[in-house]
Amino acid sequence: MHPNIWYPYTQAKTAPEPLKVKAAQGAWLELETGERILDCISSWWVNLHGHAHPKIAEAIFQQAKHLEHVIFAGFTHDPAEQLAEKLVSRLPSSLSRVFYSDNGSTAVEVALKMAYQYWTNQGQSRSTFLAFEGAYHGDTFGAMAVGARSLFSQAFAPLLFEVEFVPYPIAHSDAALATATEQAILDGIAQKLSESGDRYAGIIIEPLVQGASGMRMGRSQFLQQLQELAHAHNTLLIFDEVMTGFGRTGDWFACTKVNVQPDIVCLSKGITGGFLPLSVTVCSEVIYNAFYSDDPLQTLYHGHSYAANPLGCAAGLASLELMVEHEPAFQQMEAKHRQHLAALSDHPRLTNLRVTGTIAAMDIITDQPGYLSQLSIDIRHRSIAQGLLLRPLGNVLYLMPPYCITDDELAFIYRGLGNILNELT
Ligand SMILES: *Cc1c(COP(=O)(O)O)cnc(C)c1O
Repeated sequence: MHPNIWYPYTQAKTAPEPLKVKAAQGAWLELETGERILDCISSWWVNLHGHAHPKIAEAIFQQAKHLEHVIFAGFTHDPAEQLAEKLVSRLPSSLSRVFYSDNGSTAVEVALKMAYQYWTNQGQSRSTFLAFEGAYHGDTFGAMAVGARSLFSQAFAPLLFEVEFVPYPIAHSDAALATATEQAILDGIAQKLSESGDRYAGIIIEPLVQGASGMRMGRSQFLQQLQELAHAHNTLLIFDEVMTGFGRTGDWFACTKVNVQPDIVCLSKGITGGFLPLSVTVCSEVIYNAFYSDDPLQTLYHGHSYAANPLGCAAGLASLELMVEHEPAFQQMEAKHRQHLAALSDHPRLTNLRVTGTIAAMDIITDQPGYLSQLSIDIRHRSIAQGLLLRPLGNVLYLMPPYCITDDELAFIYRGLGNILNELT
């Protein structure tokens, strides 16, 4: 470990030495040792078009030469305005106002503050949120509060505000039961909302795929019915699309895929194609108008030094152009995953093989699941030997490659994965 660095999510005492990356190109990382490994997880889900993509690099370079950054209160600039327009044109028509910050957790913080103050500005105090078991919304305090109480947040549990959790409608383990499971969860939510709807500032969900808790996959129907409930009971619906945004589910966004108009959407990870930290919280005009006032107390007093960083916005604009150009790549990846998964479906160590868009996942059968399982460390280690970067979530093995992945590279991933599994059995 470097003597001056504290690495994220890392117990320095027991973790192996981090691998030094010298360069990266397309889907490949090149290590200091000269070894090449294929980035099967898009470097923590951020990279869309491959590493060091020349078009995004060039856009950042050009932008850096004439405006690298400027305060975003009292000032504005073209990259921020253009990116906001482009994003709004791709999102459901209900969403029209873009608030910039610089990572997924803060995009969620902003959403929670918007939702909470939306009600206080109208004289209502709604002191809690409805969230889903297993949720992960980030590592800042508000984001932790609406996330599952887990290993990650345990040390801080006493400091987290109160949130009510309902089960996440996992549809992949038993499709036949999915409708009944979804209905039971919706009934539970409906009951809470009709008994004391004025308690809830909003409902927050990772639509279609709960990421960090293990790529737990749901269905469109549930989200459509959730929207109906939120409307009927007058509460806000927040989609945390920090991971699912920008093509991950096979469509531009989960909300467009399932045809739902949430009141607030959080986006980050893929927004700059994986080049620079940037995020947005996009809300409806109705929410924006609840803050539009002569009373200074009705202002959303939130902002970050690097809000709407022009380099990030320029990267975002270039990345959106690449998404348009390569739309088929993320639209067609689901079918390719399905073909490869079919070949693994009888593997004795695997269950719950599943896919949503560009994300494929499977559970490894083990008697020790959980984030800290030795199995996960073992697989990480073995994957490097196969020339792959894999980072299982406990016993959940998943693939989320960048969209530039070729058919040959995808076949290489699945071959390596098969080898790793065979070594385990
Ligand atoms: C990663 C993630 C976050 C947090 O984003 P950071 O940029 O890591 O702070 C929030 N929500 C979801 C769904 C995520 O996957």
